[in-house]
Formats: sequence, C-alpha cells, structure tokens
Amino acid sequence: MTVPLDLAFFLRFLDRATRVIVAEAARLTDLDAAIGDADHGANLKRGFTSAESVTAAAADGGTTPGALLTAVGAHLTNTVGGASGPLYGTVLRRMGKILGDDPVVAPETLGRALAAAVASVRRLGDSAPGDKTMVDALQPASDAYAAALERGEVTEALDAAARAAREGAAATVPMRARRGRASYLGERSVGHQDPGATSSALLVTALYEATDPELCAVGPVAEAAGPEAVTETEPPAGRVGVVLVSHSREVAAATAALARALVGTGDPAPAAAAGGLPDGGVGTSAELVRRAVAEADQGKGVVVLCDMGSAVLTVKALLTEGTLGAADVRIADAPFVEGAVTALVTASAGGDMAAVLAATDDARTYRKL
Ligand code: ADP
Ligand code: MG
Repeated sequence: MTVPLDLAFFLRFLDRATRVIVAEAARLTDLDAAIGDADHGANLKRGFTSAESVTAAAADGGTTPGALLTAVGAHLTNTVGGASGPLYGTVLRRMGKILGDDPVVAPETLGRALAAAVASVRRLGDSAPGDKTMVDALQPASDAYAAALERGEVTEALDAAARAAREGAAATVPMRARRGRASYLGERSVGHQDPGATSSALLVTALYEATDPELCAVGPVAEAAGPEAVTETEPPAGRVGVVLVSHSREVAAATAALARALVGTGDPAPAAAAGGLPDGGVGTSAELVRRAVAEADQGKGVVVLCDMGSAVLTVKALLTEGTLGAADVRIADAPFVEGAVTALVTASAGGDMAAVLAATDDARTYRKL
C-alpha cells in the first residue's frame, strides 16, 4: 500500500516526530550527558513542541509540504539553542526548498530532498560519515532510500531509510568524535552512542511511520502564535558594528564591555552582545543574534565574533537563510576576546568592513609564545 506524500503526510510526520522526541527526550539528554553537555533532549523538545504553533497554522490547508517544512526548519533554527538547532533547521529548510510548491510530492523528489538535506548538514557542520555525528544516521538513510526506491514503493524506501538510520546511529558507539562538543573528549568519546545520530534515527523512523495514518492520527494542535517580532532599527550615521555571540550571556556582555573600555577615544562604535538563551541559560539564540545585528547595524556592515559550536553554526545558518535583516554581516575567523577588541577598536576609528576584518585576521595570527 502506498500513501500520497501530501500535506497530511508531512503533518503526520511532524506530529509523530514531536511525540517521539518528547517521549525520548530524557534518553537523548542522557546520551548527551555522557559525551556532551546533557541538553540534546531538552533542546529538541523545546524546538519541536513549540513548532506546533507553526504546524497548527498549516493544518487547515492552504499551504504546501515544501512551505510547511521550510517554516518548521526556520523555527527549529530559532528555538533549539544547541548545535542541533541550525543543523536540523537546515535539514528541513533544504528539504522544503527541493519540494517546492508541489501539493503532492513524488517519491523521487523526496529522495532528492533527503540527499540535498544531508549535503547541507555536511557543509554547515563540516562533517562527514565517521565523525560520530547525526550525519552517521542521515547519510545511510538517504542512501538506503534511493537504493530501495529503485526496487519498490515509497513505503519500503522509507522503511529501508529508517532501518539504515538506526543502524547508522548504533554504529557511532565505537567511533571517536571529530565534530561537535563530543570531539573535545577525544578518546573518551569512544563507547557511547552519538545523541544527534540517535535523534536523527528517531526522526527518520517518524518519517516512515507517517506512511501509516492509523498509527499516527494527527491530534489537536496548539494555538497558532502571532508572527515573530523582528526589530529593525533605522541606521543613524555609520560605522561598522560588532556583534558578540557567545554561549554565555555574561561572557558576551563582559567582552563587549572590555572592548568598549579599550577603545582609546572613549567613543566606541556599536557593540552588541548576543549571549546565551533568552532565559539566561547556556546556548545560542537566533532571535538574540538577530536583535544584536539590528542593534549594531549603522548601514556600514556588521562583523560577528563567535565563540564555538552552535554560536558559529547559528550565525552561518542565519546568513544562509538571509534572515539577518538588511545588514552586510560577516563572520570574523578570530579568537573571541582578542577579535572583539581589535574589531571594535578598528571600527571605532572609522575603519570600513575590510579594515575591521583585516584587524581580526591579525588577532587570529597573533602568537603568544
Ligand atoms: P550542543 O552540542 O550545542 O549542546 P545538541 O546537544 O543539541 O547541541 O546536539 C549535539 C549533536 O549535534 C551531536 O550529538 C551531533 O550529532 C550533532 N552535531 C554537533 N556538531 C555537529 C557538526 N559539526 N556536524 C554535524 N553534527 C553535529
Ligand atoms: Mg548538547
């Protein structure tokens, strides 16, 4: 039996995905406790449950599978807070783009969407199979789908994809992590299953389960939320702005204060901090990054200094998405504190974008021994 890959199918997928993420959140967080920072389940639970406002708006029709996945993807980038947020956000947005405006998706198109989504995760995360990340579940899933579709129907192809994803996740146990937080542990990351590969296997399995309407009847969904407020500021006279994106609210704010204090003229260019999550927790918030960019933008461009992991990934994803407003935003490839100081000193002296980026480049190569 085959089901149409229509809006109802993708709504069933998202509903099933949300339920399974909620049910498995504690296990995902436990896996992340072993080789990360014990937040993967909580991150995904926050993102998927709040995405119900986006799916509710789509549930009464009037949208396409592509538009639905794109909207939910953008929502995940905005709300998940860990490295997995921009990565899963990219997966869904890329799939949505490939699905386009088709009201019913052809199985071959879904295959192309899966392949493109995996390629975009690999690009954004600079990761490959064997690095002990979600790619170790997603790549085999996409490959298995394509191979199985040559021989049979979409249901079998999704079944094959889900099995391959689960096997791929299990195969991360003996791997040594080369990307993400777990890579900081080196050899000690061996012997644990990767949390992101585990959640990927759950999500691909949810995609397969969506082929069975009886298994996952779409229940009532939460009220639609109003459109997100994005603050746009009209730039006054212009200097290059500096935005500091750290996992910690205190680190971002204190680094901005240090950089301002070190500007000799006492008249610093705009420096805006986007540290931590909106509730003060540790992580990266796309919404805070957007607000900081708007605050720092005086029409002459904005240079962003990031600390690590999800800070870098979130800013890169927002740049690819094009949702950072009108500002010309560039990431500086420099250490956080030193880069922030040189960027702000140069911007305050009236340096243009090229001068500020060159200054941060010097900060990167400045040797301490
Ligand atoms: P964080 O690591 O910022 O706390 P999460 O705990 O939500 O974020 O997600 C961790 C998962 O994200 C990892 O288990 C891994 O699968 C995935 N991940 C992290 N960095 C990368 C990367 N560079 N490429 C691919 N996947 C990654
Ligand atoms: Mg984590």
